[in-house]
Amino acid sequence: MSDHQHVYPVSDAFAKTAWADKATYDKLYRQSVEDPEGFWKEQAARLDWIKPPQTIKSVSFASDNVDIRWFEDGTLNVAANCLDRHLDKRGDKPAIIWEGDDPNESSVITYRELYERTCQLANALKSMGIGKGDTVTLYMPMIPEAAMAMLACARIGAVHSVVFGGFSPDALAQRVKDAASRVIITADQSVRGGKQVPLKDNVDAALTRDGTDVAEKVLVVKRTGGDIEWHEGRDVWYHDAVADQDIDCPAEEMGAEDPLFILYTSGSTGTPKGLKHTTGGYLTYASLTHQYVFDYHEDEVYWCTADVGWVTGHSYIVYGPLANGAVTLMFEGVPSYPTHGRMGEIVDKHKVNILYTAPTAVRALMAHGDKVMDSSSRDSLRLLGSVGEPINPEAWEWFYRVIGNSKCPIVDTWWQTETGGIMITPLPGAIDQKPGSATLPFFGVQPALVDNEGKRLEGATDGNLVILDSWPGQARSIWNNHERFIQTYFSTYEGTYFTGDGCRRDEDGYYWITGRVDDVLNVSGHRMGTAEIESSLVAHSAVAEAAVVGFPHDIKGQGIYIYVTLNDEAEPTDELKKELTQWVRKDIGPIASPDHIQWAPGLPKTRSGKIMRRILRKIAANECDGLGDTSTLADPSVVEDLIEHRAAK
Ligand code: ATP
Ligand code: MG
Repeated sequence: MSDHQHVYPVSDAFAKTAWADKATYDKLYRQSVEDPEGFWKEQAARLDWIKPPQTIKSVSFASDNVDIRWFEDGTLNVAANCLDRHLDKRGDKPAIIWEGDDPNESSVITYRELYERTCQLANALKSMGIGKGDTVTLYMPMIPEAAMAMLACARIGAVHSVVFGGFSPDALAQRVKDAASRVIITADQSVRGGKQVPLKDNVDAALTRDGTDVAEKVLVVKRTGGDIEWHEGRDVWYHDAVADQDIDCPAEEMGAEDPLFILYTSGSTGTPKGLKHTTGGYLTYASLTHQYVFDYHEDEVYWCTADVGWVTGHSYIVYGPLANGAVTLMFEGVPSYPTHGRMGEIVDKHKVNILYTAPTAVRALMAHGDKVMDSSSRDSLRLLGSVGEPINPEAWEWFYRVIGNSKCPIVDTWWQTETGGIMITPLPGAIDQKPGSATLPFFGVQPALVDNEGKRLEGATDGNLVILDSWPGQARSIWNNHERFIQTYFSTYEGTYFTGDGCRRDEDGYYWITGRVDDVLNVSGHRMGTAEIESSLVAHSAVAEAAVVGFPHDIKGQGIYIYVTLNDEAEPTDELKKELTQWVRKDIGPIASPDHIQWAPGLPKTRSGKIMRRILRKIAANECDGLGDTSTLADPSVVEDLIEHRAAK
C-alpha cells in the first residue's frame, strides 16, 4: 500500500465551482487551528440559534479532568434547523428520496411533508409522556419513519439511541437497558434483499430480558403487514399514534450541550460503549463537513448507502444533509438485490450526483467484474466517497474507473463514531488524491502520530494516530460511564484524544490509516469486537475458551476465524461446529457468523496469560512462516499443533 504512487490531481473544472479550492482550504485550515474560537464562532452561524453562543470552546483533555463543551451558552433545536428553516425556500423540494428494497417501490418526501410528519410523531411521543431528557430506542428498517423518529426526538428534546436492525434480541436488550429507554420505535418487519427480518419479534424477545422493563411503549410501523404478536397496553401502531396529531409541534429550546443522541460502538472489550453526542457542536460539524467534503450544491441528489444504525447514517443521511437543505436518498435494501447492478440503477433512476459508500460494497461489486455496471450509465455522478475502513488502492481505482466513469473525485473519509463527523479527507476541489490515503485533516482537526510511549513523531513515519485538540463534533462522554470515556480515549497518551488507529504519514504529509491498533473485526463493513464473540462462545457449555481473529476475505474485507478449546467431556464433531455457528448467530446476529472454526487443544499465551492474537491472525491468514517473535510464549508447542490443524479454506 505504501508504494502506491499514483496521484489523481484535482481537476481545474471541479475546483472552479467547488466550495473550497486549494487556496481556500489552506486559508480556512490555518485559521481553524490558529484561531479556533474565531473560526468556530463564524461557522456556528450557519445554524439558526435561538440564543447565539458567546462562549465558544471550553475543553480539557487532561486525563484527570476530561471536559468538552462547545457553544455552551447557546440554545437551538436540531429539528428546527433540519426542517423549519427550510420551509420558506425549500418547502416543496424533496428532502428524502426513498428507494425501497423492491425496485418498483420509491417515494419522495418534501421538506414540508417531512416537517409535518415529524411534528405529528413528536406530538404522539409527547402524548406518551416523552419529553426533554427521556431516551427512546429506535430499531428500524431504512424507511423515512426512521429519520422522522430521530427528528421527532430532537424536536422535543428526547435523546435517541438507534440500534442497527441486524442486531439480535440480546444485543438490543443490552442497549435498551443501558440507555433506560421508555419507548421503543420499530416496525413489524424490515425487508432486505427480498427477505423479511422480524424486527417486532426481536423487540418482543428483547423485552423479556432482565432489566428491560423500563420500556413502557413499543411504537410499531406497519411496513410489511406480516404476522406479529401484539401486547395490549404496551404496543401501539405508529399510524394510529400519529393519525390525529397536529402537524405543528413547538421545537424545544435546547442547550448546545444537551444530549442529542447515544450511539453504541461494537465494543472490543465487552459491553458496547454508548457514545454521547450533544446538540450545537455536533450539528455545526455535521453540516459543515457535509457541505465541504461532498461539495454539496443546492438541488443535487446525494446518496449515502450506510444504515441509520451507524454513525454514518446519523451524520450523513440525516443530520448533515437535512441541516443543509439537501436532497438525501435513503435506500431500504442491499446493493446486490435483485441483481448486482442495483446500485448503478438507483443512481440512474434518481440522477444521483454524489455517492458515498463503503469499500466492502465496492469490493463486492468488483468481484463480479466491470460488466456488473453495464445496466447503468451513472452519467449523473459528480463525486464519490468512501468510509468505514481503509480502501485498498485496487478497489479505489475500480471505484474511480468503473463506477465513476473516470471523471469523479473520490473522498476517502476517515472518522469514527466518537468523532461525530469526518476528520481526515481530501476536499475534492482542493486536495490531490492518492488511492488508499485519507489525505489531509478537515478544518479544526489536528492529527498527530505518537510512538508507543507517547512521543510525538515528526515527518514521514508510522505511529499511533491521536488528535491534539477538540473539534465541535466530538463525543462528550460514554453514556453513564465518563470514567470509561477517559480510560478509553484520554489516558493512553496524556493530553490527546487517542483514536485507536495506526497510521502512516508520507512525505507530502498525507495520512494513511493502517487499521486499528486493538482487535476489532470489520466484516462487510460491520464492526464487531472479538471479545463480544468470544464471550458468547464461552457461554456455551461445550466451550472452555475461544479466541476470535479476522482474516483477509476477498468480499467481506475480513472473515471471522475462531479457535475453540473444548471442555473435556465435549466431542469435537462437525455437528458441534454447526451448533456453535448457530449459537453465535443467535446471540450476536447473523453478521457475526464464523467463517471457520478450528479446534484448539491449547491457545498461544504469554506468560502472564494473555492470548497472543498476533500469532493467531497469522495462522488464520496462512502466513505460518512469519510468526514473528514467539519467545514470550508460555508453551510454543501449542502453535505447531494449530498450524498443523489449520481449518481448510
Ligand atoms: P469500536 O470502537 O467499538 O471498536 P469501530 O471503531 O469499529 O467500533 P466506527 O466508529 O464505526 O466503529 O469505526 C471507526 C473506525 O473505522 C476507525 O477508527 C477506523 O479504524 C475505521 N475507518 C473508518 N473510516 C476509515 C477510512 N476512510 N480509512 C481507514 N479506516 C477507516
Ligand atoms: Mg472505534
